[in-house]
Amino acid sequence: PADVESLGNATWTLLHTMAAYYPDRPAPSQMESMKTFISSFSEHYPCWYCKEDFKKAIEKEPVKVGSRKKLSEWLCRRHNEVNAKLGKEQFDCTKVLERWLNGPPD
Ligand code: FAD
Repeated sequence: PADVESLGNATWTLLHTMAAYYPDRPAPSQMESMKTFISSFSEHYPCWYCKEDFKKAIEKEPVKVGSRKKLSEWLCRRHNEVNAKLGKEQFDCTKVLERWLNGPPD
């Protein structure tokens, strides 16, 4: 349905932007709260089949909260898994901060 798409697009925008603004050198409390956020997110995301696949993905590769770059690249890989499932193009994860910290190219 259309709202799975617009919800998805809006959600990726929020998640990638959060990752891009996550600290380079997070404090232990910031690492903990990001882990909690991702885990709560995966419980409550309002698209059940998306959520189930996302949960499986984070069981396979748990969230990396050690730095902005690690978190952003981890999330990029998760998004690429969904892109593959939907037959969308793979995104070059070396460009993820360029895209989400500096904004889309015009
Ligand atoms: P989106 O995929 O929403 O991407 C938005 C923008 O992000 C792109 O324009 C591009 O600039 C950028 N981008 C693309 N790939 C990456 C990447 N790897 N890293 C960083 N930036 C990137 N839909 C389903 O139909 N089935 C599902 O199972 C499903 N699971 C989802 C799970 C999650 C956790 C989320 C958040 C969404 C899920 N969706 C799912 C929605 C789907 O991923 C898309 O959001 C939706 O199809 C709309 O796609 P879009 O073309 O607008 O681009």
